[in-house]
Amino acid sequence: MPKFNRQHTLAVRPQGPAKLSDFKLVESAVPSLDDGQVVFRNTLFSIDPYQRNLMGNGSSEWPTIDIGDPMGGPTVGIVEESRNPEFAIGDHVQSWVGWQDYGLSDGSDLRKLDPTVAPLSTALGPLGLTGFTAWYGMTKLHDFKPSGTLVVTGAAGSVGSFAAQLGKLRGLRVVGVAGGADKVAYLKNKLGLDDAIDYKASDFKEQVARALPGGIDAFFENVGGPVFPVLMEHFNPHAKMTLCGTISDYSDTELPTGTNYLPRLITIIHYRFLDIKAFATPYVMDTFPEFLAEATPLVTDGRIKYGEEFVDGFDTLPETFLRLFDGSHSGRKLIVRNDRT
Ligand code: NAP
Repeated sequence: MPKFNRQHTLAVRPQGPAKLSDFKLVESAVPSLDDGQVVFRNTLFSIDPYQRNLMGNGSSEWPTIDIGDPMGGPTVGIVEESRNPEFAIGDHVQSWVGWQDYGLSDGSDLRKLDPTVAPLSTALGPLGLTGFTAWYGMTKLHDFKPSGTLVVTGAAGSVGSFAAQLGKLRGLRVVGVAGGADKVAYLKNKLGLDDAIDYKASDFKEQVARALPGGIDAFFENVGGPVFPVLMEHFNPHAKMTLCGTISDYSDTELPTGTNYLPRLITIIHYRFLDIKAFATPYVMDTFPEFLAEATPLVTDGRIKYGEEFVDGFDTLPETFLRLFDGSHSGRKLIVRNDRT
């Protein structure tokens, strides 16, 4: 049977939140290889909030993909053809070719994976982009002291749960913020955080006051939006903040209406001497080997716990992605398994 390469491409830039009609499924020939190249078949696709930024028309200033390009993002694949001596047929690799059945590479952008060290799926989660993001923001960006209170937003998510657990391992008192009673229970009972706050609860502000009697010394921000103005009132002098992401506004093309918190934030930054730093992983990938060396034992021996949710079928990629933003996402790392064999 002749092979073809399915791709979920960007059909139009979203107007507001992304929707199914922003994507178009196309088929093309499987790439053919030259000397030095490999062709691999993708078996696992990572689903990540930052992919919304690749689509354009939102709050991000991140470079976007072109209309007609396959959606970008990390994958795990298996080498099917090789004319590169570094790769053999059957090797497992992590790539960045996004939502398509097959990828072509000269190997320079591939990471070889060893399934005897950790499950292949972890290369998309705790031992991939999400773990690396948490580790960089908790380790390299700021030198968080092993005392005081760390607050992590999006704490039940892939990056947030890793960052929160790193905080615990570093000796901080850790308070997670997440949406819903189930996620709060998960943070306290499964991840062992010291406290957790449900930002969707009617008594959210009371929960914040109760959980932060000594204020905030370290802050790992994944979410943004209306939760932040409540939390920022609790910053202690010289508090350190890692700005990792603001998933709540990725689809916004205009500033929100309502109270303008900017002057208050400037006042807090000024008089409490906040130390705010931001980063983007593509610019700091040189530290990835250091991350893997530190994180692999933490993940494989269970000191860092992680959750995964697998969805079957290449066709499901766009609808699975939309679940990140519609409130139905459990917080576990979403991974789509390819049905192409
Ligand atoms: P995630 O936390 O698993 O993302 C989904 C979660 O975000 C949802 O389960 C939901 O949790 C929360 N959420 C979604 N829409 C929201 C809204 N409107 N308001 C509040 N919360 C909302 O995703 P992740 O992969 O771990 O990424 C976390 C953050 O890291 C994202 O902002 C992402 O863009 C960022 N990131 C940054 C870098 C970098 O280089 N700086 C790299 C990778 C990721 P609740 O139910 O708890 O609300």
